[in-house]
Amino acid sequence: MLAEMRGLNEECGVFGVYGHRDAAQLAYYGLHSLQHRGQEGAGIVVSDQVGMKQTKGEGLVTEVFQEDTLEKLTGHAAIGHVRYSTAGGGGYVNVQPLFFQTQSESLALAHNGNLTNAMVLREQLERDGSIFQTTSDTEVLAHLIRKHNYLPFEDQIKQSLPYLEGAYAFVIMSEHQLIAVLDPLGMRPLSIGKIDGSWVVASETCAFDVIGAEYVREVKPGEMIIIDQDGLRSEFFAKQNERAICSMEYVYFARPDSNVDGFNIHSTRKMLGKQLAKEAFVDADVVTGVPDSSISAAIGFAETAQLPYELGLIKNRYVGRTFIKPSQELREKGVQMKLSPVRKIVEGKRVVMVDDSIVRGTTSRKIVQMLRDAGATEVHVRISSPPITNPCYYGIDTSSSGELIASSNSVEEIRQLIGADSLSYLSIDGMLEAIGRSSTMKNCGQCLACFTGNYPTEIHDNTIRPHDKENLVSAKS
Ligand code: AMP
Ligand code: SF4
Repeated sequence: MLAEMRGLNEECGVFGVYGHRDAAQLAYYGLHSLQHRGQEGAGIVVSDQVGMKQTKGEGLVTEVFQEDTLEKLTGHAAIGHVRYSTAGGGGYVNVQPLFFQTQSESLALAHNGNLTNAMVLREQLERDGSIFQTTSDTEVLAHLIRKHNYLPFEDQIKQSLPYLEGAYAFVIMSEHQLIAVLDPLGMRPLSIGKIDGSWVVASETCAFDVIGAEYVREVKPGEMIIIDQDGLRSEFFAKQNERAICSMEYVYFARPDSNVDGFNIHSTRKMLGKQLAKEAFVDADVVTGVPDSSISAAIGFAETAQLPYELGLIKNRYVGRTFIKPSQELREKGVQMKLSPVRKIVEGKRVVMVDDSIVRGTTSRKIVQMLRDAGATEVHVRISSPPITNPCYYGIDTSSSGELIASSNSVEEIRQLIGADSLSYLSIDGMLEAIGRSSTMKNCGQCLACFTGNYPTEIHDNTIRPHDKENLVSAKS
């Protein structure tokens, strides 16, 4: 159960709109632009003040919703969710938004992140009589909310949030209110926008651009945004902390056209690449990036290194992200299907291959081999983030430490394992500087736990996979 409960909300994207007659359509387009955050399932719940309706399913946004399904979702408010695929499965029942109907009031919620104390809370709630429908940690909040159902809706939520630990961006809806909340450390991105006088919230600002909404501001750590017929109000359910937003949003997850906490993702990635070139210059003939997430960093690297940037690898757009494939064999095939070298560009050349990160090492090893097979004389790998040495408990599926190549191998050992002529990672200080944060690691505004092992929240014993326990202890000591 623990394994099942963990990881059901990996990454994910959330969207909410209130007070717009095309609420479901806006949610559809918003979710479509957040598709990179999750391809396993999608769902929309709409409210028409009297009741709520839901459509959800496994697959891509375009597969789950057709014109006629959307037409039936009439209402003035909607929340939506795209879910990331995980090895553990989860199926239709765990596709979000989760939706509960009662005689008095309905409740829908969608979550991006991971509650690190979900197991503890679930055990307590089950002991008190709650019956869970899903294996998702998100459902814990639904039961906590319902335990306070003698209060007005927004107070039910306000009373429940202090029980939660971990990373969360929630959009929650009743017939009459849309509520957005961000965890006390602001570990996940969540922004507020406006369209035609109506309020929208989304995991990434690219969702505003696609529907023509204007960006207003970020939801702050520990903030609860309440939207209803009286407009938008803000309250804080936790003391205002310095933010600890996930560094991997900048490195890998977010879309290049999004701005996260005020920083544009493409420009930030370019700066990561520039910093990497300063730290780990290598003389070569061409620089190439691994599409799509590393292109910005590769351009930055080439600019600072004063080497030509070339499209040495191309991506087949019709194959999903490799990382999500459940077995190693499928993952390796996935890389091959997804990427091809451009022989004319790399043949006879010394190539710098920039990627945003190495997790298990599958992608880098395959690409180095591909480039060599296509005639590259040297392959130098440059990674625009520091080595990932520790697992993430906040909803990013960087796997357990046993699978993380950098948790038990030195940079030189990794170089040998992936078969590169040279390998360098970006330093932590260099990454912070490139993002635009203070280069001191304490209070830098970022979560760095997968690089340092210093987790910004308490990690409960039963959140930790047995394999990771030793690592956590050694990282702390
Ligand atoms: P690996 O092949 O396991 O080393 O994974 C590294 C590749 O996966 C890189 O090319 C990254 O762009 C990508 N990546 C890094 N972190 C994640 C993640 N949490 N989910 C999906 N893909 C990732
Ligand atoms: Fe992001 Fe890493 Fe922190 Fe997880 S541990 S939230 S992946 S920075």
